[in-house]
Amino acid sequence: MLDADFFRRWMTAAAASVDREAERLTALDSPIGDADHGSNMQRGFRAVRTVLETEEPATPGAILQVAGRRLISSVGGASGPLYGTLFRRAGKALGDAAEVTEEQLTEALRTGVEAVTALGGAAPGDKTMIDALVPAVEALGTSFAAASAAADKGAAATTPLQARKGRASYLGERSIGHQDPGATSSALLFAALAEAAGE
Ligand code: ADP
Ligand code: MG
Ligand code: MG
Repeated sequence: MLDADFFRRWMTAAAASVDREAERLTALDSPIGDADHGSNMQRGFRAVRTVLETEEPATPGAILQVAGRRLISSVGGASGPLYGTLFRRAGKALGDAAEVTEEQLTEALRTGVEAVTALGGAAPGDKTMIDALVPAVEALGTSFAAASAAADKGAAATTPLQARKGRASYLGERSIGHQDPGATSSALLFAALAEAAGE
């Protein structure tokens, strides 16, 4: 069973990873975006870390909902509302249980990813975070490590794609040949999940 501590460890590991990788995320957002993805993610996850310390939400669902709300309120870029929606909806799906199963987490994240799709309108292959999130949730049924590997693979596979959503889509064919920054940060979030699980 996954308890509140597990979810706190996930968010803390995500914040640490985003801190470590902020420069790389911003560098990826430079040729096909506006060079702010690293700083957006850093601002968002620092705010998440702070709110989890001050509000001390006690259940898995509450932790994800508080984190999601904070991402929406602290990040100006597209990624804030998108990741915020992912966590808010996943948290809502978990309800107020003190502990949840891996299957429940998988289902909740599937619901969250569907909400991201509804909000942003991106389909797999559009060169967005969806390209890492969808295969990661699919592989979550196997293990956290498998989900992390699938997210990495999905992020790498965005490189040859032409962007059809978000800022990178304004570049048309010139978006080809660059890895999507949001798919890359999604892979970091799933690596942090595997880390929280000790995998
Ligand atoms: P902004 O583009 O507003 O500067 P960020 O740089 O923080 O925001 O985030 C950019 C990332 O957001 C992209 O790399 C992409 O993965 C993701 N993204 C942008 N638009 C969408 C969308 N409509 N659906 C899904 N993901 C999107
Ligand atoms: Mg950007
Ligand atoms: Mg921006």
